[in-house]
Amino acid sequence: MTYSYGSNHLLLTKHTYIKLENGTKKPWPREEEINADTLIQLSGGIDSTYVLWKWLKENSDKFAIVNHIVLKSYECRNEKELKSIDDILKWLDNKGLNNYFYIQSEFDYGNIPGTSTDVEVCGYFAGLILKTARFYNVTTTHLPIYKKDSEREERRRFLTNFISKKEIEFIYPISHMKKWQVISELPEELFKLTWYCRTPLNNEKCQRCFSCVDVENSLKQIQDEKLKRFLEGF
Ligand SMILES: [Zn+2]
Repeated sequence: MTYSYGSNHLLLTKHTYIKLENGTKKPWPREEEINADTLIQLSGGIDSTYVLWKWLKENSDKFAIVNHIVLKSYECRNEKELKSIDDILKWLDNKGLNNYFYIQSEFDYGNIPGTSTDVEVCGYFAGLILKTARFYNVTTTHLPIYKKDSEREERRRFLTNFISKKEIEFIYPISHMKKWQVISELPEELFKLTWYCRTPLNNEKCQRCFSCVDVENSLKQIQDEKLKRFLEGF
């Protein structure tokens, strides 16, 4: 599969090795290969879109690996998310923010009874990507998570380190922020391209799931903050 987003024409899959004195092989980037600096997993939601947009804007001389996992589950939101990914990446490319390599993966929960935690799948795929010879030098990942000290995050970090066979630095750029602050910083055009509903209803956002409610409350908070600043100006 080929994906023509970002700088994928520079994403070469062949790599070379150098042989060390003890006989083991070490991946070695080809001369024309551009290294990446970090991995950012993009779900198509508000938080990961914000983290990616900000990183690309502030690191125009560097490259990120962007990974979207098509997560198939009983919630059936993977098609909506994929449409958002397409819209978001095209928007970024049009703004010249194409300093990234795009990797798309897929995971199907099948008929596993009960719910699973998506962060574990994300942690596993992050490990797989960071283990490759192509991205041997990448040792950081930026995570769009508010609560970095949770047990879920601990399990994610464990999986990524274990699978990648490296000590990864986990950076949490929005851990000091509130959701409404993230939304108000994100360009409105880009916000409208995101998909945040967990359980789409008739192909639309359900307005009921925790994520829809969270966004609605954040938008109200933005209005309150605007009004507060307006009143303070007098
Ligand atoms: Zn919803």
